[in-house]
Amino acid sequence: MKKTILAASSLVLAGVAPASAQSIQVTEAGSNRSIIAPAQNFSGTAAVTPLFPGNAETHATGGLVNFTPGARTAWHTHPAGQMLIITSGRGWVQEEGRERIVVRAGDVVWIPVGVKHWHGATASDAMAHIALSYMKDGNNVTWMEQVTDEQYAAP
Ligand code: MN
Repeated sequence: MKKTILAASSLVLAGVAPASAQSIQVTEAGSNRSIIAPAQNFSGTAAVTPLFPGNAETHATGGLVNFTPGARTAWHTHPAGQMLIITSGRGWVQEEGRERIVVRAGDVVWIPVGVKHWHGATASDAMAHIALSYMKDGNNVTWMEQVTDEQYAAP
């Protein structure tokens, strides 16, 4: 299988590349190894499973993120927006300056370009989402400071 490595700043580091395909491609489940989300950009324990890489045909990276209770991303923005599809559990999404939003399996969340935010599990529930992170100039995320325990606990 052909593999494409993206910039280290990408949330999803690698995946099977559908670029240049002339017919339908199926990437079989388990084709991409899961990694523990890097501690510089996440608090707590989260696992990231790459689904597909960003390229001229997909325009976004796709990844499945499994957050354990209390786990969350750092604050960050997306240069071309991000779609989150909650696949299990219960989590929180928060935009800077606003109250956090509860999200559950089946919810779809759009993060507009440049909006500072974080997402993760609640303090007492696991949460998983598929993240479609759209690419601009080869980048799909700008990481910032960690979400403190005080920020995480605040409604
Ligand atoms: Mn995000």
